[in-house]
Amino acid sequence: AHVADLVTRAAARVPEHAAIVDVTSGITLTWAEVDGAVSAEAARLRDAGVVAGDRVLVRLGNGAGFCVAVLGALRAGAVAVPFGPIGVARELQVVLADCSPAVVVAAESDDTARTCAAGTSAQVIAPPDLAARAEAPASGAGGGEDIALLIYTSGTTGSPRGVRLSHRALLANREQTAALRPAPVIPVDRVLLSLPLFHVFGLAAGFLQVCWAGATVVLVERFEPAHIAEVLVEHRVSGLAGVPSMFRSLLDLPPDELRAATAGVRLCTSGGAPLPAEWFAAFRAATGLTIVEGYGLTEAGPVLTTTTVDGVGKPGSVGRALPGVELRLVDRDGVPLSGAPEPDAGDPDDADDPVGDLDLELGLDGDVFDAHDTGMVAVRGPNLFSGYWPDGEGGPDDEGWFRTADVGFLDADGDLHLVDRSSDVVIVNGFNVYPREVEKVLMELPGVAEGAVVGVPDDRTGEAVKAVVVPAAGAELTEEDVRAHCVERLARFKVPTVIEFTDALPRTPTGKVARRQLAGQS
Ligand code: ATP
Repeated sequence: AHVADLVTRAAARVPEHAAIVDVTSGITLTWAEVDGAVSAEAARLRDAGVVAGDRVLVRLGNGAGFCVAVLGALRAGAVAVPFGPIGVARELQVVLADCSPAVVVAAESDDTARTCAAGTSAQVIAPPDLAARAEAPASGAGGGEDIALLIYTSGTTGSPRGVRLSHRALLANREQTAALRPAPVIPVDRVLLSLPLFHVFGLAAGFLQVCWAGATVVLVERFEPAHIAEVLVEHRVSGLAGVPSMFRSLLDLPPDELRAATAGVRLCTSGGAPLPAEWFAAFRAATGLTIVEGYGLTEAGPVLTTTTVDGVGKPGSVGRALPGVELRLVDRDGVPLSGAPEPDAGDPDDADDPVGDLDLELGLDGDVFDAHDTGMVAVRGPNLFSGYWPDGEGGPDDEGWFRTADVGFLDADGDLHLVDRSSDVVIVNGFNVYPREVEKVLMELPGVAEGAVVGVPDDRTGEAVKAVVVPAAGAELTEEDVRAHCVERLARFKVPTVIEFTDALPRTPTGKVARRQLAGQS
């Protein structure tokens, strides 16, 4: 099993079918053309001295060149390190030092890549020649348990770590995803991706899923609602994969325009960050489309659950595990919750335990998260990664389980709800505050477009809850309005003590709120 063979398979089935529509450059490649260009790229990399297992870092924007460079590296038996052009010099230096690639593929105008690579063993080469063709081999070099992609997580929780994804893991996750009904990508689909291809969601769940189906991907560089609306119509897009903030910003379009633009869309998929129930409902009212939500992470290649398993899901839930994925809740030692001792609320040493259900012990009512047994989400399946770069440390345990950093609970129907990331928990006087819970409450206040909650240091309580609120267009909100709304709906220690207003929340390139920036850290 080899990831680059997906292209050969599509080229055999539908050689003349459009594979990649690169909106920025205006280039369209058929599957036969992609297959030939990928083989030519593999040959070019080998000529540049790349041997099996070498890393090839691809620092290009969303476009056909990115796809061909990554698949060419795989066909040559190398490990592709998707990076993207927006990473700043410091991030690039960290990654270059960590994985010491043999080759960096970068635009000719990319001075940052050249400056950073100078003094390392990496050779910088130009983007692939999309017009070059070579015969595809029977199969790419290597495959199976060999590492195909080394993806650095964006680092919203700390310094970037290289996630080693094997051919086996990536292909398993494509097969699991393809087994869903409705299938996220079918052969006649034209899927719009403005998600960055250097992130697992865009690259694996987006582009590689399109390869699996032999469908068509429509690539755009940036998400700009008016431009996206044009592309949707002009390129007859039927599938739209995005992060929640993308769907939210489409709602800023004039209603007629949005309806017309989405008239041909069959399926919308959101993932990477929580999709607020308000946005889900507003999008459905405006377009008639039900956004399917998926939950995943880089380490899982990436998809773990979706709301399409057994129905359309329910607001607030990320649905059920994909076929072949097992899911359970564990405590911080990895012990499954059902067999785990009750968390001891009386022990002050447990005060910083993100999993211990302190709120439950206090008997506070009205808070949905307090009514369930929360634990850390652990997963098992053939789609899991092979540990972190370089030596595979931190991977699944001996029984194949991997404990994520996400805290969640299962409701009576067995649907997973994510409470928050354990690393985002704010600890006020020893009590856990999950920012997402407070954010949900903020969004229920009319006049609030969006809100984010972080912890800030506090002399008295250790940490204090800070809310950053984006008022809806034309809304007049005061700190007092926000506080009064929260006081009615949240236990006292969860009510934000610092409330600030802003026009827009800072986000990472992958659509997540840049929490450290909001908390005033670098
Ligand atoms: P880091 O691990 O450094 O924070 P990252 O944020 O880039 O980097 P990813 O693998 O991209 O890491 O993100 C995975 C995380 O995104 C999950 O662990 C989860 O917290 C969050 N996430 C993904 N999908 C959803 C979803 N549908 N709802 C809520 N959270 C989600």
